[in-house]
Amino acid sequence: MTIRVFRNARIHTGDPVRPPAEALAADGEEITAVGTEAEVRAAAGTGAELVDLDGAAVIPGLYDAHIHTANYARERSQVDLRHARSLDEALAAIAAHAARLAPGAWLFGGRWNSNQWERPVQPDRHALDSVCPDRPAALPSVDGHTVWANSLALRMVGVDRTTPDPVGGQIVRDEHGEPTGILRESASYPLRDLMTAGELVDELRAAQEDLLALGLTSVHDIDGEDCRAAYLRLRDAGELKLRVHKAIPAEHLEAAVEEGRRTGEGDDWFRTGPVKLFSDGALGSHTCHMIEGFAGDEGNHGIAVTPYDELVKLVRTAAGAGIAVATHAIGDRANRLVVDAYEEAGLPPGLRFRIEHAQHVRREDITRMARLGIVASMQPVHCTSDMDLVSALLAGQDLASYAWRTMLNAGVPLAFGSDAPVEHPNPFAALHAAVTRTRPDGTPPGGWQPEQRLGVGEALRAHTLGSAYAAGEEGRKGLLTPGRLADLVAVDTDPFASDLDAIARTKVLATVVGGEIRWQRSP
Ligand SMILES: [Zn+2]
Repeated sequence: MTIRVFRNARIHTGDPVRPPAEALAADGEEITAVGTEAEVRAAAGTGAELVDLDGAAVIPGLYDAHIHTANYARERSQVDLRHARSLDEALAAIAAHAARLAPGAWLFGGRWNSNQWERPVQPDRHALDSVCPDRPAALPSVDGHTVWANSLALRMVGVDRTTPDPVGGQIVRDEHGEPTGILRESASYPLRDLMTAGELVDELRAAQEDLLALGLTSVHDIDGEDCRAAYLRLRDAGELKLRVHKAIPAEHLEAAVEEGRRTGEGDDWFRTGPVKLFSDGALGSHTCHMIEGFAGDEGNHGIAVTPYDELVKLVRTAAGAGIAVATHAIGDRANRLVVDAYEEAGLPPGLRFRIEHAQHVRREDITRMARLGIVASMQPVHCTSDMDLVSALLAGQDLASYAWRTMLNAGVPLAFGSDAPVEHPNPFAALHAAVTRTRPDGTPPGGWQPEQRLGVGEALRAHTLGSAYAAGEEGRKGLLTPGRLADLVAVDTDPFASDLDAIARTKVLATVVGGEIRWQRSP
């Protein structure tokens, strides 16, 4: 095993009783010593490899407790043409995107809107061939009803001048009868089938680099079984650089129980997580489940996505099989029903039951969450993105909204995350939102409901040790102390020594997972 000493740093271990350390030693994946440089080097021995961190601040590796990494990976791998204002702008974006793809990989994405272009022309395959001749490309329009393909893509699905229009679709043709590259409705289906069958393994392999660059060393992934399979392939190939706690979709619960899957099984790189259930919808679409109605839509109390009896049944099934439960709940009624269901089903000791989002909650239910030990898995940037919506739709209701201060004071364990790709996965944006309750531009001054702000140490703890606790991993992750995993991040901004607004602009310099530098900023 390689012994490494990370030195010349200001190391915040996450343990509030320890002063910042100067150095940290790792033997293989685990921390063996942390303290002054002299102490750590003596403990590590003369054969240790020295890693100079150039005076950087170091914090424990950040842990996203709620992220959809497959969705994130798919979106990041696709070109986004929604904001193109002309065909030329769209083509420039396509050329730049194509240059980043592996040779031969399909180019997908799009959401182009030619009605919005300065000169609204219908694009054709010749334009696409001019920037993307050597790989197949298939780009759906913004409404999804039309696909713009290049010549190679048409050839690969066997569309040419002799192909008849399918029932319910149209192959648009030029004056010589040749397909133009525009396929409408059912004519685009053969290409659509290919688009959903993109190589998730390749996309996740690339996306993990983004997440490491943001200082994330572990994630609770909330996506599906295809994502689980892709991560297992990466792990088996020795290519997984990020630790994964993998949730089970509700519709796969029975199969997971039959298979004997249990929360926490696995190793430090890949573990089975909780089953993910849904209690309600979302605020913006008026589908979160509320005790009172929405302003201007008073008769509407939202939607119970999983009826209460069904929820109790699912919780019992999971708990009986050793599988923890993480239930999405936004509205106060939804949150109350989840607490009711957990209480009625009974929480087995050792399994961490969670509420995902826990956005608008009655204070008496926060007290119950604390008593039952239910973890609040929250996403601070949802607060700063949605606060105007909350003020408009839920005004005058006696709610604790994004109430991490009330939760913490009541004794509810907090775990932080991003819900990417709904929000950007940058954990420093989350820390900034948690401690300021302002948007990145500093509005509203003083913060929205500022009595709910956390201190820097409290917010960082929720995004590290708190997420580890939610996964039952608090003995392995979240603190930089001997016996735990050497997962740490060197940053350019010491969060404890800078003004709060600077936290949002923090740049990661190096990300270490299991004692190895897995990502480093190029000088
Ligand atoms: Zn989510």
